[in-house]
Amino acid sequence: MRRATVLESASGVGTPRKDRAGPRDIPTLGAVVLTPVSNARRALTTAAKLRNVFEIRPYPEFSWSISRQRLLRDCPRAYYYRYYLSHNGWLREAPQQAKLAYRLSKLTGLDAIFGQEMDVRAREIEAKVRMDEPLPSAAELEERTRRTLRDAWRSSKEERLAFETKPKDHTMLRSFYVEGCPPSAAETDRLNQKLDACHKHLLAADHWVRLRGCGREGGLLIPAFAHFFLDEVTAFAAGDMAYVHEGVAYLIDWKSGRPSADDELQVTLAAHCLREGEPSLDQLPVRAALHYLLTGEEKQVTVPDDLRAFCADAVSTGVKEMRSFLLDVESNAPLDAGEFPRKESGLCQSCNFTQLCKGGVS
Ligand code: SF4
Repeated sequence: MRRATVLESASGVGTPRKDRAGPRDIPTLGAVVLTPVSNARRALTTAAKLRNVFEIRPYPEFSWSISRQRLLRDCPRAYYYRYYLSHNGWLREAPQQAKLAYRLSKLTGLDAIFGQEMDVRAREIEAKVRMDEPLPSAAELEERTRRTLRDAWRSSKEERLAFETKPKDHTMLRSFYVEGCPPSAAETDRLNQKLDACHKHLLAADHWVRLRGCGREGGLLIPAFAHFFLDEVTAFAAGDMAYVHEGVAYLIDWKSGRPSADDELQVTLAAHCLREGEPSLDQLPVRAALHYLLTGEEKQVTVPDDLRAFCADAVSTGVKEMRSFLLDVESNAPLDAGEFPRKESGLCQSCNFTQLCKGGVS
């Protein structure tokens, strides 16, 4: 039997939980007001969030994240579609190209959903050990992840219209939407192999031994939009789990895919973000680690003594590169689409924006 059908035989209804939204997600909307771009961006944004008010701006607010920087380096045109053309694409009166870019930006893949689910499983395990309760088996954890993947499969197959109407509220796998067919057998085979290995390695992590019976003690909250500021720029950098145990702060990034070149930078920035949000950690040593769940490898990352300067340097380099594509830095108005070169590579195969890229933008 083709393994794809294991996922295809959906049971239950729903879409994957996104317990921790990334910087790409738009906050929950309350009342909508029209305002011009303001100089006091940070203060206004904070005030707006407090009032649960979402401001409609002609251009998005500028921010930095490692995924944003990676996309710019991979393909400036895809970066333009994702961070500029899609802006305000959720509005009924938005231009068709913006609506399309917004919709395409919400497409996802099985690997991405799987990664989110592993974060959720880790938080479930942490809650159990802190309450000193028995842990679920790897098979039980795996079944929860499979359920979400099946839901995503079913939703992608059956809810195309609903996705087109409200892209943010419905899960849509890229292959169903762009290619009109399920993910390939190679993709689902690879995922099936990851499912078994990753859940077993997650359960075997030594953090759970350390945390058992701790109750709430030493728990550190990582906010949904964990960030720090570099001058006036918001830099997003969230780790997956953090706690303090016997005078040491631990920061963990779970990785369900293969190692990538900027993994260490990512967890180092997250360590800085954690310290900025928790001044009491200033005096504690931070032990940052990458956990590659596929192989079970735990890689310790040395946090530099001059962490703040190191992170400022890393982020400012990326910010400079991003700003070279702006017409106006203050309003974050981008250059014309044509100034964002297409960078064709093997990544085009999994790019969400092929439809726009082939058709061009007006
Ligand atoms: S399809 Fe390729 S060239 Fe076009 S936007 Fe995507 S990554 Fe860039």
